[in-house]
Amino acid sequence: MLIGIDDTDSPRGMCTTYLGAVLARNLIREHMRVREARLVRLNPNVTWKTRGNAAIMLEFEGDPERAFEITCNLVEELADQSCENTNPGVVVAEKKFDPAFYQKAVTNFCTVDEAVAILEAAGARYRGWKNRRGLIGATAAVASELADKTSEILVYREPERFGTPRHVSRESLFAAEAATFPHTWDTVDVVNDVVVCVPHTPDPVLFGIRGESPQWVMAARQMILSEHPGIEQIWVTNQGTDAHLLPGTTGHLQDLISYFVSGTVTSATETKVGGHVSFIMKDGDFAVRCMAYEPTKNFRHIVRQLVPGDRVIAVGSFKKGSINLEKLKIVSLEKVEKIRPPLCTACNKRMTSDGKGKGYKCKKCDARTEAPDVQVGNRTLAPGWYEVPSTARRHLAKPLCRGFPD
Ligand code: ATP
Repeated sequence: MLIGIDDTDSPRGMCTTYLGAVLARNLIREHMRVREARLVRLNPNVTWKTRGNAAIMLEFEGDPERAFEITCNLVEELADQSCENTNPGVVVAEKKFDPAFYQKAVTNFCTVDEAVAILEAAGARYRGWKNRRGLIGATAAVASELADKTSEILVYREPERFGTPRHVSRESLFAAEAATFPHTWDTVDVVNDVVVCVPHTPDPVLFGIRGESPQWVMAARQMILSEHPGIEQIWVTNQGTDAHLLPGTTGHLQDLISYFVSGTVTSATETKVGGHVSFIMKDGDFAVRCMAYEPTKNFRHIVRQLVPGDRVIAVGSFKKGSINLEKLKIVSLEKVEKIRPPLCTACNKRMTSDGKGKGYKCKKCDARTEAPDVQVGNRTLAPGWYEVPSTARRHLAKPLCRGFPD
């Protein structure tokens, strides 16, 4: 038996994962067995999402009718329906749906009608509130089949503390990262000295630890000192798996879809107002702009070193004509020529330029020459994969500590 839920939160509070964690406890209280709690992130470019476009699935053993009733009652109780953009969806199914719907929901866009057609064909119990959009995520969560998966332990706050400042020991978070990286990631951003895993929004989450397995996230979690926590749930997730990426080619990219795209840099990089860095790359006849926005911090230092002729693979979402970089592979580097005044053959001193197009002159012996000293310079940049820092990473983006893309 599978329960899917989505779209219960608003910017003012709540979180579908919290509702799922409470639901798991309510089912257990009714003597049902919860076999898996799954958190799926869907297309990160969906504009009507509240935060991270999450949906949840609980796999359980028990009476589906009773589970449906308990779930709907909990959504009525906890979902922030006063928010225009909160449109909950609940699905209870006795078997999995075709994973193609999940694939589409994580990489592309789906409609409520498409979700309802699947639910009707499967004879599933379902309910959508208001415009019923949450049925898309709820159906995708039940349809999800994860080729690659990671874990996240979400530690929630005691309800009476919701909306108040969070207290989590910064030192303990850095210590947990130091002790468990690369088996856990994105607890803190060591390079930028920032805590990443504690949200600033008024939702019920106190902190979340992401990692390879329940054991690793638990190991890190046990090192963290904080205010007295409420309930805690380990989720199986598609986070950190690059599930949102499709192979793409320049000239054939669709807006709000995320891709791997190969090309050759054709422009010098430009830094725009606000610190956003861009360059143009081309594959065949088609060019595309690649952007490294200011929040990607030190990643921009890599991008700034690209020169025309470098071959790269750009990874990110295509939005309004640009690829917003999440990762970048430098496939090969163009050789750069360094042109300097030559050495004087008589004095072995560096000559000076006599003006544009006028050649070079030795200040010591007045010798003249036309030809500059041309050297093929070594690039400090090395081929390989580069990624945005933890502070700028999307939930679905696979961190390089998990391995490089194929
Ligand atoms: P929550 O914690 O409530 O899940 P969120 O940030 O994850 O918050 P939602 O409030 O759930 O975002 O909003 C996302 C909405 O978009 C949901 O109604 C979901 O069903 C819908 N949705 C998700 N993926 C797609 C998709 N690929 N195409 C169309 N709609 C989608």
